[in-house]
Amino acid sequence: MPIVFKGAKVAAYFQTAGVVKFEAMGFLSAVFRDALDAKCSDIHIEPMGNDVLVRLRHGDSLRELIRVPVGLSERIMQSLRVWAALEAQAPGVPMDGRIIRQELPGYEFRLSLFPVVKGEKAAIRIFSVGTRRFSLDSLQWHPEQIQLLRGVISGARGMVLFAGPTGSGKTTAAYCAVADLYSQSKGQLSVSSVEDPVEYALMGMSQAQVDVVKGFTYPVALKSVLRQDPQVLLIGEIRDPDTAVLAASASMAGHLVISTFHAGSSVGVVFRLRQMGLDAFNLGAGLSAVINVRLVKELCPHCRQQVAPTSVQQRMLPPAWSGDCFESVGCDQCFGSGLKFQSRLPLVEIFSPDDVVRDAVISGVGVGELRKLIGACTTFALWSSTLDLVSQGRIGLQEAIWAAYSSNVL
Ligand SMILES: [Zn+2]
Repeated sequence: MPIVFKGAKVAAYFQTAGVVKFEAMGFLSAVFRDALDAKCSDIHIEPMGNDVLVRLRHGDSLRELIRVPVGLSERIMQSLRVWAALEAQAPGVPMDGRIIRQELPGYEFRLSLFPVVKGEKAAIRIFSVGTRRFSLDSLQWHPEQIQLLRGVISGARGMVLFAGPTGSGKTTAAYCAVADLYSQSKGQLSVSSVEDPVEYALMGMSQAQVDVVKGFTYPVALKSVLRQDPQVLLIGEIRDPDTAVLAASASMAGHLVISTFHAGSSVGVVFRLRQMGLDAFNLGAGLSAVINVRLVKELCPHCRQQVAPTSVQQRMLPPAWSGDCFESVGCDQCFGSGLKFQSRLPLVEIFSPDDVVRDAVISGVGVGELRKLIGACTTFALWSSTLDLVSQGRIGLQEAIWAAYSSNVL
């Protein structure tokens, strides 16, 4: 089978070693280097037919890096297990581990191995450790949005939640908010975090990593860290009722709690927190703001064309909207993808409740009424910002509909 090279480092590896002298660790090292050069977020290695397929993830799409004969699969997976110190475990069960390579400083790789019919599939997530600088200015938000967020979090108490679907940039935005608070305080703020996993090291923050196996869960960690009385508490994600209740009571006790929440809209955040068993009073009184974020893919400007919306898309647009729509068809500049290379545009919607909304949450009004009231306290509404980007030709209509409709889902 001819090996097709799509990465410079794997090509160089095979030029030197050849297929006959294949050595899995050298091969993996080349794959990791190609992944870092391509600035991708994940590496997927899986047996597929007669090949082991190696693909790199950019945003939503997986691009093939190389295929090697399937007979090499076991050696590749065994080398990954050695790197992640999992070699004592027999293959055939799912396992997770951490890889740190001296020759790739500044990066950490999270390995997940999953048994499949033809062996194992490896998914490796790439994290840059300690090298990233977090600041609100790096988020490419509109200056007014930054100013508004600073107004919400500075000197505040209560709960500030960054909401959005997976890959919307909510964790990065939460880190930037905390980093900004810390630098504005000139290092005088006490900041603690409880995270799972700790994705980045942040200056000035005491970070704790949840360890479920050892019983160091979110609720256990939060109860003990609160005894140290931090002014600001970053919770990696609120994903269970106990964490939600602890976050709310910490905010009521005068701490500023910043966290992320997997929800599509501010109404969704309120209703899911109620479903998690959060008391209406604590929720109404404790919630300071919900920042809904999205990252949308920018169209390639070189092959952009004006198009008419399809009948399905037309039905999803507001009846009064009369903007232009564009799509990119793919050209040499964008390698046929139709997208501007590595460009994601931020969408930011900020909801900061007034007394009317607080009373409505406490008295438990229905979804329709609450949506209306929340809308009145929301700045930079997602749907209208999204449609602005569509008529400017910055994003395609399909992308806009994804962003908008994921905001309507509770
Ligand atoms: Zn193009």
